[in-house]
Amino acid sequence: MSNFAEQTYKMNTDNMKGYSYDMGPARPPSEGAARSLLLRFTRRCPWNRCLFCAGRRGRVGQKFEYKSVEEIKGDIDSIKGIYDQIKAASVKLGHDGKVNNTVLRAILRGNPDIYGDSVDSQEIENRYQALVHIGNWIDSGEKTMFIQDSNSIIMHTRDLVPALQYLKKTFPKIERITTYAMAKSISKKTQEEMNALHEAGLSRVHIGLESGSDDVLAYMQKGATSAQQIDAGQKAVRAGLEVSEYMMPGLGGKKWSRENALESARVLNEIGDADFIRLRTLKIRKGTPLYEEYKAGNFVLATEDEMIDEIELMVQNLNCNSYLISDHIDNLIFEIEGQLPQDKDKILKVIADYKSMSAKERHSYKLRKYSGHYRGYGNPSAEIDQLIENAWSSVEGNKPDAEAKVEEAILAMFNYQSFTT
Ligand code: SF4
Repeated sequence: MSNFAEQTYKMNTDNMKGYSYDMGPARPPSEGAARSLLLRFTRRCPWNRCLFCAGRRGRVGQKFEYKSVEEIKGDIDSIKGIYDQIKAASVKLGHDGKVNNTVLRAILRGNPDIYGDSVDSQEIENRYQALVHIGNWIDSGEKTMFIQDSNSIIMHTRDLVPALQYLKKTFPKIERITTYAMAKSISKKTQEEMNALHEAGLSRVHIGLESGSDDVLAYMQKGATSAQQIDAGQKAVRAGLEVSEYMMPGLGGKKWSRENALESARVLNEIGDADFIRLRTLKIRKGTPLYEEYKAGNFVLATEDEMIDEIELMVQNLNCNSYLISDHIDNLIFEIEGQLPQDKDKILKVIADYKSMSAKERHSYKLRKYSGHYRGYGNPSAEIDQLIENAWSSVEGNKPDAEAKVEEAILAMFNYQSFTT
C-alpha cells in the first residue's frame, strides 16, 4: 500500500490555458486575511506621484499598463484551468474537493515537466505561487476576490464591465469583489457607470482619501481635490458599493495638523455613509519624495502625540455613519474603533485615556508598541537597537529629549523593515 504522503497526481493539461497568471503584490491586509483571489486588471499605478507613497512605487515600479479585456479573460481562463485540476486532484486523492498541502504536494510531485528544474526558475516560482494561491483560495471558500493593482477603476467602464461579468460567470461562488480606487478616477465616471460596475459584480472599493484638506492634497500631489473626494465617495455609496475611506493622520505635518483633522471630518461627513474610515498614520519612508522634503526641513513631521490629537479632533467633528477603525501597524492605538455616531464617546474615551497618561508612560507605550512590531519582523539591526536603547534611557531618566529620541527611534524602525503602507 502506497504511503499517503507520497501520493502523486498527474494533471490533465488538455484544457489548461497557462500554469501561472498575472498576480501582483499589492492588496489590502484584509484581503490577505480573507485569502482572496488576486488578479491584476491593470499593472501598477497610473498616477505614481503622491509624495508619501513608498509601497506601490517601490514594489511595482513606475510604468503603468492597461490590460485588454482579452488579456484579463485569458488570465481568468488560466486560473480556471489550475482551479479545475486542483479540484480534480482532491477528488481523485480522496479529499472530496477540499484542498490541503497533501493535494498540492501531490500535484507538484506528479508534474515535474511543469514544476521541475527544466523550467525557467522565475516561471517555476510563478507557477508554484499560482498553484498555492489558488489552492488557498479554494480552501477559504472561493468567496472573495481582489482586483489589482492600484487603480483599475481607471479602465473604461465598457472594458471593466465585461471583465467583471466574465469573472463572475467563471467563478459563480464569488460573493465579494474589491478593488483600490483613486477618487479622481471614480469622480470621472458617471453615476450610471458606477451603478453598472456594481451590477457587474464589483462590491467594494478602497479609496485613498488621505486628507480632506485641499492644501494637504495639493502639497502631497494626491491628484484629487476635496470636491472630487466627496463626489467619488458619494457616487460609490449611491451605487451600492461598500466603501472604505483611508485617512492619514499626520499627512499635513505640523503646519496643517488641525486642517488635516477638520477638513477630513468635513469631507467624510459630506460623503456621509462610507462604510469604513480606516486610519493609516503617516510614517515617512526613505526613498519617497516626502522623505527628501522632511530631510530638507520643508516638511515638519508631527509627533505621534500630535497625530493622536489630530485623530481626536477629527472624531470630535465627525457626524457621519461610518465604522472607524485603526487596523494597521502604522497606527499607535489599535483600540480606536467603533461605529459612528453612536460610539463616538467610546472612541474619544480611548484617546482621552491615552492622553491622561504621564509623558513617561506615553513614551514607554510608544516604544513598547512599535519596537514589538519591529522585533516581530526578526533580524533586528544593531544601529536601530541602539536608538531604541537611547530612547529608553532618556524616557526612564525623564530627560527633556525623551520625546525626540522616541520619535527618532520610531522613524528608524519604520524605515528598517519594509512595513506595508
Ligand atoms: S498612494 Fe496610491 S495613487 Fe498615490 S502614487 Fe501611491 S499607489 Fe499611486
